[in-house]
Amino acid sequence: MRDDNCIFCKIANGEIPSATVYEDPDFRVILDLGPASKGHALILPKSHFKDLCDADPEAMAKILPLAGRLGKAMKESLNASGFNVVQNNGASAGQTVFHLHVHVIPRYDGGPEMVAWKPGKEEAEELAKTAEKVAAQL
Ligand code: AMP
Ligand code: ZN
Repeated sequence: MRDDNCIFCKIANGEIPSATVYEDPDFRVILDLGPASKGHALILPKSHFKDLCDADPEAMAKILPLAGRLGKAMKESLNASGFNVVQNNGASAGQTVFHLHVHVIPRYDGGPEMVAWKPGKEEAEELAKTAEKVAAQL
């Protein structure tokens, strides 16, 4: 499972050099070229999945524990005080590289600040309707 035109396939499989933090048979973890903060890392599966809807559940089951290990290492090695785990699916969600990847972004007490969403408002009835719609497709 590989796409010859995909830059993350090439990076994940070592054909293009990267600042590699970690590698195992399933994943390569690299530093983002345009980091949101110092140490911003990307977990790249070695197999090509376009996004989470397309991904192999077995491989995905390993990603969150790896993100946790990375976050812990960032706290210990870079003095981060927290970290965000972000994963974008689709252009409207901010995905720009269509090879599934997980961002692990260390956060520091002094910043940099990052954009957060503005909480909206929704009536209980509307919440229930929406929940029902999504549930019907699961
Ligand atoms: P996303 O917007 O979730 O698709 O994230 C793509 C991320 O990949 C961005 O944060 C980019 O800065 C990063 N990126 C793109 N090309 C490279 C590259 N060649 N090496 C490292 N990071 C990259
Ligand atoms: Zn790919």
